[in-house]
Amino acid sequence: MSALPLNADSTEITVTHPWDGRVVGTAPIPSPDEVAKAVGAAWEARSTVAALPAHVRAEALGHVSRRLAERSEEIARLITGENGKPLMWSRAEVARAVSVFRLAAEEARRFDGRLQRLDTDPAGEGRIALVRRAPRGPVLAITPFNFPLNLVAHKVAPAIAVGAPVIVKPAPATPLTALLLGEILAETDLPTGSVAVLPLPNERAEALVDDPRLPVVSFTGGPVGWAIRERVPRKHVTLELGGNAAVVVLRDADLERAAERVALFSNYQAGQSCIGVQRVYVEDAVYDAFAPRVVEAVGRLVTGDPWQDATQVGPLVDEAAARRVSEWVDEAVAAGATLLAGGRRDGASYQPTVLADVPDDARVVTEEVFGPVLVLRRVADVDEAFARVNAGRFGLQAGVFTRDLQVAFRAQRELEVGGVVIGDVPSYRADQMPYGGVKESGTGREGVRSAMEDLTEERVMVLTGV
Ligand code: NAD
Repeated sequence: MSALPLNADSTEITVTHPWDGRVVGTAPIPSPDEVAKAVGAAWEARSTVAALPAHVRAEALGHVSRRLAERSEEIARLITGENGKPLMWSRAEVARAVSVFRLAAEEARRFDGRLQRLDTDPAGEGRIALVRRAPRGPVLAITPFNFPLNLVAHKVAPAIAVGAPVIVKPAPATPLTALLLGEILAETDLPTGSVAVLPLPNERAEALVDDPRLPVVSFTGGPVGWAIRERVPRKHVTLELGGNAAVVVLRDADLERAAERVALFSNYQAGQSCIGVQRVYVEDAVYDAFAPRVVEAVGRLVTGDPWQDATQVGPLVDEAAARRVSEWVDEAVAAGATLLAGGRRDGASYQPTVLADVPDDARVVTEEVFGPVLVLRRVADVDEAFARVNAGRFGLQAGVFTRDLQVAFRAQRELEVGGVVIGDVPSYRADQMPYGGVKESGTGREGVRSAMEDLTEERVMVLTGV
């Protein structure tokens, strides 16, 4: 584990490094009294925070962005320490968070309501409506281990931008980065109660989910999100869950580029990304040219010590995760799959792996692998490719390598996902755009602007006699 085992009575989280097991740091677990105070403060502060002028919210967000940039190398090293991802990805994550807070500062200045004319109907003559957006209330942000900074930023920055207090419950494996972000937020002029970071074990997090003073739950993580939503049906719950993202490679694709991108993005962060490439559907006409290229590109990936600048693939978050991936690959091979590359585990590390001829019902196809494994499949044409993409239970994003604009529009129309990426892998997320899933991949959208809409609701004032 990258955190030593926890239970409801633990008083601190001991975070260990997935690469060598050394202790990276400890996070004190807040007492029930401290949790009650933090939630009480968020509730008490809700009107004050909602009433903060836009320039004050924007200034606070700008400060966080600048401080993250100033401290970027230190924070990247902390992320690698607790999560095990190679430094190159940790640095990219900090750069993203810098831009998320900057973007939220810009959006805080722009975000506004609208005037709605009502005299389109005789009953509305002499009236006009002013529609403004009000925060739904204090937000409970629950985040996973795979982006310890940026997935927290995706929830905290929009909350501050709209004037909603936020309580962060980070993943037990990676609480240290979230706590450091909390320290930077504490440097701002935001009122007491605006932000708290509470590293709690899962058992104690359920009390936060139940607390009526936190009417909004913004959850990113695995399938437990659905149970959380069922637990609190009256709350506004947003779920950013997992997937088994697919790529389609069609006959007109640039095969060299497609192979490079597929190889890298099925393995980046050791496959621990919700939009990492897992299933690859290749049109028959180019399959025999594509498969060896992708195997060769996977073989060139630099694996190993996450502290080396050149390392592209490091360990998984813990040995249990690597064991699970290994079991699923072995199971597929036993069921008839061909191992084209990889397939070996060493502690928490798992070799970049390519499988072909995998039965449709193997877990490496139907479930979220969340490991460095890609499954190649020959398909007759675009119809079969799209049908196979849609056959899964998940629907986060899909990638289509084609240069045909008609196929691109068809992909957007027909693929059952939150987003399609044309000419690249699905592992692309820009914080200006809406991001989220359909089917078992979740409900609701993030991306700074979309999250700001999600955390607020419209409130109308009708003016009479105008
Ligand atoms: P997880 O679901 O195990 O944990 C996520 C968070 O939920 C953690 O903070 C955990 O402590 C908390 N949690 C677990 N049980 C809880 C409960 N009963 N009550 C309250 N909180 C509870 O996920 P993980 O293993 O940390 O992360 C991996 C998962 O996250 C993958 O499925 C991945 O696809 C998904 N993910 C999704 C996105 C997205 O944007 N769609 C992004 C990154 C990761």
